[in-house]
Amino acid sequence: MLTQKALRGTHDKLPGEAALFRWLEQTATETAANFGYNEIRTPLLEHTELFAPMGKEQQALCSFFDQEGQHVTLRPANNLGLVRACLEHGLLEGDMLPRKVCSLSVCCRGLPPQAGGARECTQFGAECFGSAHPAAEAELISLAVEFFSAVALTDYHVELSAAGCPICTQAEAKTKTLCGECSTHLAGVEALLAALEIPFVRNPGLEAAGCTRVAFAFVSDIAGMGTLGAGGRRDGVTEVLGGAAIPCAGFAIGLEPVLTQLQAAKSPLPILESCDLFIYSTGETLPLAAQLAAQVRAAGIRVQYDLLGRALPAQTEAAKRLKARYALTLNPKAAQAHLLHLFTGAEEHLPLEDFAEQLTETLLRQSQEELQIFFNT
Ligand SMILES: [Zn+2]
Repeated sequence: MLTQKALRGTHDKLPGEAALFRWLEQTATETAANFGYNEIRTPLLEHTELFAPMGKEQQALCSFFDQEGQHVTLRPANNLGLVRACLEHGLLEGDMLPRKVCSLSVCCRGLPPQAGGARECTQFGAECFGSAHPAAEAELISLAVEFFSAVALTDYHVELSAAGCPICTQAEAKTKTLCGECSTHLAGVEALLAALEIPFVRNPGLEAAGCTRVAFAFVSDIAGMGTLGAGGRRDGVTEVLGGAAIPCAGFAIGLEPVLTQLQAAKSPLPILESCDLFIYSTGETLPLAAQLAAQVRAAGIRVQYDLLGRALPAQTEAAKRLKARYALTLNPKAAQAHLLHLFTGAEEHLPLEDFAEQLTETLLRQSQEELQIFFNT
């Protein structure tokens, strides 16, 4: 009987899912880089005090005293760590603004989650420091929309809400309206979204905790999915951490909900763990198979061969299980190899001389023609 199991609320990402996660993360950071948001990585572990601005959410922190007696916390979200890192390393000096950063971060919660609740999640976050202009929020929303589009996520909408400011909050009791600056700012974001042809809906009930002027969210249209990500203007956050007053806006998107939604919507997902070629070998030809595999892997082709000393019929089954596109039979006596396309049955004889180059050329040419095979439905 197994004596060790994962903690309730945590989740192992196994082959297949882990590869899709890597694809999501890579697409996220590449999209962000197109917008000038460069990745930064901050520690999972921070001083607990850093998260004091989170208020009542602190109850859910995963905190403990370390061996040095410091009270430390596994981050529950990444934005405060990003702000701290940018301030601490002087990334927010005047002529460096706007400073645009993004991050991929595993985040943790301390409280045992309710049934089905997650205790650990992965966030794609982006923060823009130094711009008080509505263009900052519009660009962030545009970045998120571009990311969703790049992974072919549909069935969601953008919600926008006024989050107010200290002036509005004082006046609110009497007038229930936004102050002039907040109202101009919100209109500015809306005008830019309209120019970018990004549809949005106003949701006055949007949770805007910690936001000023504008809050936004990316909400799934699939029943039971909820919010994929949220953000807004967070002016004041640098001062809370002891820095200068620097305007700030940002978002965080949960990559687990994004993947769940892609799977629920049966979106085409890339096949990332494919096998291009399986080389059959016998005890005699195994060293040659290993050499050829090494040569063609260097050209970026995914090659496997038998590691179990199996008979040829069992190797054929193995190649099928791996969904290998090609199988190769070596015939060193004739200085030849026989290449069989396992999906179409097409075959080709290749000389063993300059084999790696020829095979690479053949496979690359054919995979150009078969690119769509890499996408299943
Ligand atoms: Zn206001």
